[in-house]
Amino acid sequence: CGIVGYIGERDVQQILVNGLSKLEYRGYDSAGIAVMEEDQLTIEKAEGRLKNLKGKLEQRPLQGTIGIGHTRWATHGEPSDANSHPHTDQTGKFSIVHNGIIENYMELKEELMEKGAVFSSETDTEVIVHLIAELYNGDIVSTVQSVIAKLDGAYSLGVITEYEPNKLIAVRHASPLVIGVGKGEHFIASDISAVIQHTKDVYVLQDGDLAVLMKDKVTIMKADTGESVRRAIMRVDWDV
Ligand code: GLU
Repeated sequence: CGIVGYIGERDVQQILVNGLSKLEYRGYDSAGIAVMEEDQLTIEKAEGRLKNLKGKLEQRPLQGTIGIGHTRWATHGEPSDANSHPHTDQTGKFSIVHNGIIENYMELKEELMEKGAVFSSETDTEVIVHLIAELYNGDIVSTVQSVIAKLDGAYSLGVITEYEPNKLIAVRHASPLVIGVGKGEHFIASDISAVIQHTKDVYVLQDGDLAVLMKDKVTIMKADTGESVRRAIMRVDWDV
């Protein structure tokens, strides 16, 4: 339902939770965040409204400067802590948030389970992160490219991995996604309202785009061919 993500130098938990609160108007059934703590990915998620997640984070704040967050509107699997995003694989090295529906997830799930993947949710989304773990070749960008070549359906994604903690990967395919451009920091969000308090400069991704966000730069390419593309920066003039 809603995606946020951040890579920079500031406290990521606050930025993610704040961004999620701006997406709350869309309505949702659960929320969660994944943060790169030192070099270890940590996930916290909770069914229900954002205050449930906030309660958990008060008990145990996540510390880091890169992370992804999600508000879920369940399509596959009931609203529950386990089905909330972000999702991870059994190594815990990769984490993703997803907005949309993977139409062919059943056959992908069966193939993955035959190869030994252990699923911890009933979502369509979880196949994506297991595929990333299975196909990871030392380069998260080309790995994500080969994974989405296998997916049918609608997907905007945020992806982070312990192996390459200086990158946040964003994909847009039939669900909206924008990139906020700051000084030494970058954001992703389903909706401009989640980044507008930090920056007014945004790239609006087009369907089929894959973006690689680092602290100091963003590269955008076509997900299928890897060919780099230019997207104009849009200045948002709304008052906040
Ligand atoms: N299909 C996914 C799920 O049910 C994502 C739903 C969403 O876009 O919030 O978990």
